[in-house]
Amino acid sequence: MSKTDIRSLSLDQIKKFFLENGHQEYRADQVYSWLWEKSVLNFEQMTNLSKSIRAILKENFVINHIKVETIQKSKDGTIKNAVKLFDDLLVECVLIPTKNRITACISSQVGCSLNCKFCATSKLKRMRNLNPDEIYDQVALISDQSRDYYNRPLTNIVFMGMGEPLMNYNNVIQSIKMITSKKGLGMSPRRIVVSTSGIPKMIKKMADENVKFKLAVSLHSAIDDVRTSIMPFNEKLKLSELKLALQYWYSKTKRIITYEYVIWKGINDTIEDAKALVDFCKFAPSKVNIIQYNSIDNDEFIQASKSNIDLYQNILEKNNINVTVRKSRGQDIDAACGQLANKPS
Ligand code: SAH
Repeated sequence: MSKTDIRSLSLDQIKKFFLENGHQEYRADQVYSWLWEKSVLNFEQMTNLSKSIRAILKENFVINHIKVETIQKSKDGTIKNAVKLFDDLLVECVLIPTKNRITACISSQVGCSLNCKFCATSKLKRMRNLNPDEIYDQVALISDQSRDYYNRPLTNIVFMGMGEPLMNYNNVIQSIKMITSKKGLGMSPRRIVVSTSGIPKMIKKMADENVKFKLAVSLHSAIDDVRTSIMPFNEKLKLSELKLALQYWYSKTKRIITYEYVIWKGINDTIEDAKALVDFCKFAPSKVNIIQYNSIDNDEFIQASKSNIDLYQNILEKNNINVTVRKSRGQDIDAACGQLANKPS
């Protein structure tokens, strides 16, 4: 039988284990600190525990820490890691440095079950959800790289890597608890963005649970037919439902929503498309991030012309909608939005 990963246990469960094995409870606090705060790879590294305690831990548990398989560095400073999980599956996570920030872009699933046609990850079958510790490890890894490569602390975390975070809800929430805990990485939830392609039921659940992180929605079109043609799941989860969920989110959290939006030639680059987006933005306080399209070898999708993007931006601004046009990062190493697909380096 395979051993339990000790990081699937809560602090109380580890305390119980020690008590049942004739040791004092405070040993659990020590172990917990090694596991999370210090992110050790094995029990031998827990140097303030006796050999015999380390031995019973080893007898009963494993630590399934992620392993870095490859590291690629972009000329703009972006670092992409392919990391191997205990069952040999791979996911990617990315460090994105800017003048004032260092952001970790984290994966939540191996592959993705959604089928957004413009996204490279959607070409990978969804193999499984990541466990909370596997999500946490990506952040801890990038936090270390941030110090090692840039001598600066990690400042922000975005769940914009592989997978749909809200389809792995419990594990994502659990990982954020540890990322924000003083017993973990102690990051502020306000520096975390969870990005979803828009699962109304889960957005409402998050609002009910009073989560403290920020929400981004990959909108890409505010017209049902257009959105369904590029994000087929929209057929069942219509924009009207998404809108209601987002209004609910705002009413409960009072936190504005970011819409991520790519503009493609001949798909969503007309004035009508822009006006539909304006209307959509009026339902709940929000802002729009227009992101650059990163090519994924699919001829259907071509970035809209600069003049059409400017037009969009103007229409949004005239309607007092806060809009930013974002440059892409790490394109040369396939580390940019929508390019994470475990391509060999
Ligand atoms: N599933 C979540 C998390 C992935 S985030 C979500 O959809 O939000 C990845 C972001 O990159 C999303 O906004 C996605 O729509 C966007 N994206 C996907 N493919 C892209 C591409 N080829 N170019 C630019 N952005 C892309």
